[in-house]
Amino acid sequence: MEPLTSAVLLISGGMDSVALAYWKRPAAALIVNYGQKPFQRELDVSRYVCQDLKIPLYQQTVLPLPAARPVDSPEGHSSDWVPFRNQLLITLGASLSIQFGLEAVMIGTVQTDRKFADGSPSFLAAMMALLQTQEGQLRLLAPASSLSTLELFEISGTPREVFNGVYSCTYAEQPCQRCSSCVKYAEVMASLSERPKIGPIDDCK
Ligand SMILES: [Zn+2]
Repeated sequence: MEPLTSAVLLISGGMDSVALAYWKRPAAALIVNYGQKPFQRELDVSRYVCQDLKIPLYQQTVLPLPAARPVDSPEGHSSDWVPFRNQLLITLGASLSIQFGLEAVMIGTVQTDRKFADGSPSFLAAMMALLQTQEGQLRLLAPASSLSTLELFEISGTPREVFNGVYSCTYAEQPCQRCSSCVKYAEVMASLSERPKIGPIDDCK
């Protein structure tokens, strides 16, 4: 299966990056362990998807980033907020792209990520400009940035059984059902007219 896109996809095993893998079939994928509790679950899903699509999966571990806040903070950040995460991931993906002679880094930002500073159009434009300042031809691709997750799923051709099996909780190895990622997963699955396949309530630390 030939890749469709000369890019390294930043994959997390969640709905958006998995759908992007099926839609754009990148030349390589990168998963980063930055200290997130569900990393093993994210890795398991990413491995499955990459094997299914014959995409080489690379893994990097970095020092744990300061923990995302478990509940909405007084500053108004959503519970998914991990300061500086996306620019770190983009930088690691860019480095890998250069190493492999690829043209781009691809990130699974969707429209609802605009509530995060690092999911906004201005952030994506700034990172694009930064990559090109350093390595002129390297691009940042965010092909789903104006789509909802549901629209992305529908356009992507992701098999339904794969989509049902993605892992989206930000905080725990069993879905907490309370963080904004779990809520989003449940909403998308409800929209797909299927009962959310998420586990029992666990600690949401
Ligand atoms: Zn959760």
